[in-house]
Amino acid sequence: MPALLLALLLVAASASAQTRATLDIYVVDVEGGNATLFVAPSGESLLIDTGNGGAGAVRDAERIVAAVKDAGLQRIDHLITTHYHGDHFGGMSEVAARVPIGHFIDHGPNVQPAAAADTFLQKVYPELYAKGRHTVVKPGDRVAMTGLDIRIVSSAGEVTRTSLPGAGSRNPYCANVKPQAPDPTENAQSVGTVISFGRFRAVHLGDLTWNKEMDLMCPTNRLGQADLFVVTHHGQPVSNNPALVHALAPRVAVMNNGTRKGGQPDAMKVLFSSPGLEDLWQIHFSLLSGQEYTVPGAFIANLVDEQPETMPIAAMTPPPAGPNAPAPPAHNGTAYWIKVSARQDGSFTVTNARNGFTKTYSAR
Ligand SMILES: [Zn+2]
Repeated sequence: MPALLLALLLVAASASAQTRATLDIYVVDVEGGNATLFVAPSGESLLIDTGNGGAGAVRDAERIVAAVKDAGLQRIDHLITTHYHGDHFGGMSEVAARVPIGHFIDHGPNVQPAAAADTFLQKVYPELYAKGRHTVVKPGDRVAMTGLDIRIVSSAGEVTRTSLPGAGSRNPYCANVKPQAPDPTENAQSVGTVISFGRFRAVHLGDLTWNKEMDLMCPTNRLGQADLFVVTHHGQPVSNNPALVHALAPRVAVMNNGTRKGGQPDAMKVLFSSPGLEDLWQIHFSLLSGQEYTVPGAFIANLVDEQPETMPIAAMTPPPAGPNAPAPPAHNGTAYWIKVSARQDGSFTVTNARNGFTKTYSAR
């Protein structure tokens, strides 16, 4: 090959590899479920959870695929399923039908038998991961992605006993917190992940609940501080222990709540009183916050479908939880994500896709 042609090809190859300098994170609106896409500068990707199943599966999968396309991806390299609740694994088949998934990661056996999860785990899931790789992770494991340091910090009810680099100091926020009743559900099994890109650190713990948060962060803060905290469990108060949130001291929190799920006052109070929090961004307006606890609309990606004339100040009483709870209002129209673009120096920009509102957080 002529030297000039070779040189041109090398320039072209490095140009395409370097078009992305940021770690891009899409928190997708899956109506109070979770789907968070991390895209490394190398173009490698990690999706954490696939949104809702049932009637929401196609809707949520198409929203996830829209983010995949926006990022210019042809495939999803790694998929972490945090736990086997329908708002986290439900859209997996529909996502896999649209985009190839290379590596399936989870915490192992389901501890909370339920018809939908059992059918999925016995019949559907093994067929999906047979086409790629399957890994059951434990705390301390890593997920290999060029340019990123990705560590598993919780899985299957266990938490890491090793502090992350730069972490490991005594956690003063443990003094005032007490355990809640033990949580026997899949939430406490959640795969928790810390993703670092240069000086930038993001924390995503799925739906990990209160006592496991204390196990992870007391008496030692094993995770250090975070730039971005994807609020745990949609902003419900059975998670978001201040011993975790306040010790992480995130600069920015993004909450994957729905209109009537998450964003409850007790969790909002923990977030708003978190030292150093610069902003909370929400995937939805939460009726459970009311005006009393919500953030300004500029920071909210999706509103409510039927906009009332006035917004009450008081938070709405949450609907009953559990299998007999009334279905939340379905939001099937256009959905907007919140996108975070992080740079190696630790600076990052957050954008609300609904209104284009954007804010840059400079390096510390
Ligand atoms: Zn959930």
